[in-house]
Amino acid sequence: MRMLLVEDEKKVSDLVARALRAERYAVDVAADGQAGWDMAEAYDYDLIILDLMLPGLPGEELLKRIRRKSQQVPILVLTARDATEAKVANFEAGADDYLTKPFAFAELVMRVKALLRRGPVARASVLKVADLEVDRFTQQVRRAGRRIELTPKEYALLEYLAASPGRVFSRTMIIEHVWDQSFEGLTNIVDVYVRHLRAKIDDPFAVKLIRTVRGVGYGLATEQNS
Ligand code: CA
Repeated sequence: MRMLLVEDEKKVSDLVARALRAERYAVDVAADGQAGWDMAEAYDYDLIILDLMLPGLPGEELLKRIRRKSQQVPILVLTARDATEAKVANFEAGADDYLTKPFAFAELVMRVKALLRRGPVARASVLKVADLEVDRFTQQVRRAGRRIELTPKEYALLEYLAASPGRVFSRTMIIEHVWDQSFEGLTNIVDVYVRHLRAKIDDPFAVKLIRTVRGVGYGLATEQNS
């Protein structure tokens, strides 16, 4: 197992690298954000440990870039910050685990092992159904390479259907997952939004992806998996 450690504080990186090498892991060390990116781009690491406070390229930016390059590699973030907001932002950007400084090396090693045991995560940030692409990270939707602008609710509905192609969802299921508890709207809200979605993602194209199953509900499918 080969890992990349991006950490500018030499004392910390020396100690972390030593603790990991004692566990027989191969460890490359980068001392700033740019060096970290160069190495992450050049090698397919089994795991990346990333300090957020870095000179050059900020850790947050590096995290996003690494995630864009690889959906699979587990990323453990190190930081002095303990703000929940920052944590949430970084988990959204693709961190798999978090360790707040100062930490015990035993805990770091334990978390590294847990992440490696989990293996490559099938994060599937981009859902694909035929020529439709739904990027859950950027929330951008494309069909046949063409960008399609959706409202937030249209997007949420499409993402929900696209996560399980071929499956048919009842209107009740869709309302429960796409709308929240404050929803007290029309009972035909799902039909209304499906109509909006159809106009944008199906009408301009020859192959229709949104299926209506009479008396049951809606689903997203290609001809092969319908
Ligand atoms: Ca630092």
